[in-house]
Amino acid sequence: MASAPTVPTPVRSEEDLNPFRIAMRQFDKAAEKLGLDQGLREILRRPHRAFIFTLPVKMDNGSIQVFEAYRVQHNSSRGPCKGGIRYHPNVSLDEVKALASWMTWKCATVNIPFGGGKGGIICDPKGLSMNELERLTRRYAYELGTFVGPDKDIPAPDVYTDAQVMAWIMDTYSMTHGGTSAPGVVTGKPIFLGGSLGRNEATARGCFFTIRAAAQLRGIQLTSARAAIQGFGNAGSICAELLAGAGVKVVAVSDSHGGIFNAAGLNISELTEHKRKSGSVRGFPGTENISSAAVLEAECDILVPAALENQITLENAARVKATIVAEAANGPTTPGADEILHKKGITVIPDILANAGGVTVSYFEWVQDLQELFWDEDDVNRRLEKVMVRSFSDVYLMTQKYQVDMRVGAYILAIDRVATATRTRGIWP
Ligand code: GLU
Repeated sequence: MASAPTVPTPVRSEEDLNPFRIAMRQFDKAAEKLGLDQGLREILRRPHRAFIFTLPVKMDNGSIQVFEAYRVQHNSSRGPCKGGIRYHPNVSLDEVKALASWMTWKCATVNIPFGGGKGGIICDPKGLSMNELERLTRRYAYELGTFVGPDKDIPAPDVYTDAQVMAWIMDTYSMTHGGTSAPGVVTGKPIFLGGSLGRNEATARGCFFTIRAAAQLRGIQLTSARAAIQGFGNAGSICAELLAGAGVKVVAVSDSHGGIFNAAGLNISELTEHKRKSGSVRGFPGTENISSAAVLEAECDILVPAALENQITLENAARVKATIVAEAANGPTTPGADEILHKKGITVIPDILANAGGVTVSYFEWVQDLQELFWDEDDVNRRLEKVMVRSFSDVYLMTQKYQVDMRVGAYILAIDRVATATRTRGIWP
């Protein structure tokens, strides 16, 4: 019987883990292959603009706490900037810059008419009350002011933000714009406030479609495959459910408290219920506790990093055993690790393709809001499937044409689309 993977003591890596420098390296590598001219390279490798906000918030105990927040608009050549807002203690300007640029490439990879943006607040959302969270969110939305809007920059949920946070942002925008109704200012809203059916599941569903396509390419039968999933939030937990529904044995999962393992496979609906009640996947009956890092090294065919950046690095990449790595998280693999995975013959479905289902259904939500005409869930899911299947094959064609891995293939596709838009619009003035 397979046993739970153990992880050797980590060695200190000499790798540069700054997310923005990583994003620039990824860009440079693909721009070089594409033969992009120097001027366009200089425009596209950095963000158009970045805002830093200081947000004073009255806490429940009467004290005042000051938070630092960001919004970065990377590029709007193909449409309004688009991207989530993250609440996390480790948020930094460079992280948000990287995430904003990844949104530009993501929207271009799946060919939806958006550019890229991202926001973040340095905070520990788990340590804030609902009232504090609301005041913090509204103050942030107030500061975003006229920089956002349905035709300018459209925020959405990301790590530790949700439909409620989007409702507060929409309301604050409305209150500070003369009470105007503008549901298209954010996506990922509650359904009854102009949200889209299927948006909550979209990141995971899109990821599942790309895994299915990659499995077909690699000759893997889903019904006899095993998966390991790092992160059991919105993307990770729903992806686990969809994989299990397709007959995949999910043998290991983790959340911020640690990981669990069962070689015979986990019952995902019972596990989801366990996490809902106890707050963690840990302690799920019939499982062995393992570390979150060990999940990445589990014996499996499909590995889904669905947590944060820099999880697969120079230190552990050689020990990844999966055949397919589907990046449900943004930036989980470092450039050094990428090369190791490629040499090992592992198919890495890059974040800008694997997790693009979320922003794709955000696009559908925005379209429905603008038209004030809402689609049923089957319609949303069918359209999402079409976009993901077509995009996977567009990226695959690039890997063949340029003899590169899927990340470089996706970047080449995306950079070419954004560069064409920028070149054709021309440089103002
Ligand atoms: N935060 C998600 C992402 O990283 C969704 C962004 C959106 O829907 O705008 O793709």
